[in-house]
Amino acid sequence: MQSLDNVLPDVSELQLLFARFNNEHFGGEIPAHRIAYNARFGNLAGRVTYKPPLIELSPKHFERHPEALEETLLHEMIHAWLFARGQNPNHGTAFKRKMRELGMRSIYHDLGSAGPRQESARRFILRCDRCTMEILRKRRPPANVSCGRCSRRGFDPRFPLRVMEVVEARDVTDEPRAARRRKPD
Ligand SMILES: [Zn+2]
Ligand SMILES: [Zn+2]
Repeated sequence: MQSLDNVLPDVSELQLLFARFNNEHFGGEIPAHRIAYNARFGNLAGRVTYKPPLIELSPKHFERHPEALEETLLHEMIHAWLFARGQNPNHGTAFKRKMRELGMRSIYHDLGSAGPRQESARRFILRCDRCTMEILRKRRPPANVSCGRCSRRGFDPRFPLRVMEVVEARDVTDEPRAARRRKPD
């Protein structure tokens, strides 16, 4: 983690950047989001979760491409902004209009050839805060689920899986759409 300190803004700086972008580009309409690095992201650059409001960024990816960090944050913020306004938060007309308004033409090719992995289907992430394991589900999981790794047998209330509703995740690469159609469940 030592290189994180040298190259990447720390989380409090990201939080300030979020606040500045929110005021400059979104009229302050985006509710507070926690901004975090997720060291487990392999081929994900960024991800926005609406409940709880959370934007996660890949430290691995942005150590290699620090110039792409602000744009990715803005990208996730457009999703969050549309969601907050009750508009379609996916890569639809409103999204593209806002992108154009912010001068973000450079990722049009990204949207054309490669949609995000969770384009339309609502997804749930179950995360264990202890071991940081994550499971993706299409349907809302039942209440009282605990982490299979941390619990010895059956339900263990000490290791609950936190349910997060994810709608959009942004991949690192521009692979063809077909290659991304793997089923996470
Ligand atoms: Zn666990
Ligand atoms: Zn997106």
